[in-house]
Amino acid sequence: MSWEPIDELVTAVKAGRISAVELVERSLKAIDENQSYHAIISVLKDNALTRARQIDQAVKNGEDLGVLAGVPFIAKDNFLVYGSDTTAASNILRGFAAPYQSSAINRLEAAGAICVAKANLDAFAHGASTENSDFFVTFNPHDKTRVPGGSSGGSAAAVALGMAPFALGTDTGGSIRQPASFCGVFGLKPTYGLVSRSGVVAMGSSLDCIGPLTNSAKDAAIVLDVISGRDKLDATTIDKDTAGYANTEASLLKGIKIGVVKEYMGDGVNDEVKLSIKRTIDSLAERGADIIEISLPSLPLALACYYIIAPAEVSSNLSRYDGVRYGYRDTEAPDLFDSYTKSRGHGFGKEAKRRIMIGTYVLSSGYYDAYYKKAQTVRTKLINEFSAAFDAVDYLAGPVFPTTAFKIGENVKNPLAMYLSDVMTVAANLAGVPSLSLPIAQDSHNLPIGLQLMAPQQRDRELLGLAMAVEELVK
Ligand code: GLN
Repeated sequence: MSWEPIDELVTAVKAGRISAVELVERSLKAIDENQSYHAIISVLKDNALTRARQIDQAVKNGEDLGVLAGVPFIAKDNFLVYGSDTTAASNILRGFAAPYQSSAINRLEAAGAICVAKANLDAFAHGASTENSDFFVTFNPHDKTRVPGGSSGGSAAAVALGMAPFALGTDTGGSIRQPASFCGVFGLKPTYGLVSRSGVVAMGSSLDCIGPLTNSAKDAAIVLDVISGRDKLDATTIDKDTAGYANTEASLLKGIKIGVVKEYMGDGVNDEVKLSIKRTIDSLAERGADIIEISLPSLPLALACYYIIAPAEVSSNLSRYDGVRYGYRDTEAPDLFDSYTKSRGHGFGKEAKRRIMIGTYVLSSGYYDAYYKKAQTVRTKLINEFSAAFDAVDYLAGPVFPTTAFKIGENVKNPLAMYLSDVMTVAANLAGVPSLSLPIAQDSHNLPIGLQLMAPQQRDRELLGLAMAVEELVK
């Protein structure tokens, strides 16, 4: 099932042509009918229907309604949402009821949007396939034998299956863009700091970004407009574009400079993926865009850099799950120390443990300079290379991932192979630049292929404008 564009839904709700209750019911029905994909961890049926009734009443009373009035959505289960457990798909947080609500959800609710369900993810957002969920694996909507990508695999699958017009995801090293590309939906990782991280389970705090997964760039722009901007609960937040995002229009392609990232078009990339990217780039050139090959020489180091910095931050962020303050506690432990080790030992899954160990190692006094400090130096170098690239071009383009959706189980035995394939998404997080994935084609197995586009920091509006222009080209 597919949804109408968000602005049309809202106009219909405000005009009383469709009720918020009907929209929520439509969403609940799609969730119910597609249970076999395992995209959802929990459904907030009663809360959602209550909220929908309030909105319908407000319509009848002629009250002023928000820009997302009555629009159902799904949040990745690492967002704190009142009335639901926030598990981050981890056993250690099973049954953890949100004591407060994330800022992004607060803003969406204030605009009239309604959270109907929480989506599956790789536990604590560690992964690229949703196979690291401690609960269950989500299936790709295009082929049930394949992964939906990750870590926001449940959110991407939910949108692709028509469970809601949009979902929220988090992206620390590709977790919005890669599942969007695997499931054939639109996914935006905004500039670092543009959307408040308050009330979202932290992974790597200097990399974590929150963004929408939608059916179109226009829908993503509408959602971004609501969730973006300064928040006093997250000191890293920045002001949103003075023009906002909701009224973004497709940009004119004539004369814009697009850099095709040389390092992303090399040997390791699947031929079909490469070919579709080239085709799209060619049609952009036909419409007058100036296409330039761009090299960022430190890009091959980005992956190693990410897999030092991200686990370092993960190890520190996960230290709060001590069996005392949150979630699971081993009650058999004879003393406090044992309680820590047993609660953490039983509560955390394999991948979380792996990352805690890597992270503590690279931060330990003997290795700090060799790993963590060096990775930070490389990160600065990368940031400088991105800014030099953006002196030469307006946007960067390339694939999102070296392949289309892979088979369930294909990479689980080899975590390193899984890490390596994040090579094209992690750099945007290290540099803090906005980046998105939009569906441009399907491979010979009918699996979606995404195009990745990046822009300088705080050019999210322009980036969305370009995405709209590309959407028209590949329609
Ligand atoms: N796949 C990457 C990782 O495993 C990215 C995860 C994310 O963005 N949350 O770290």
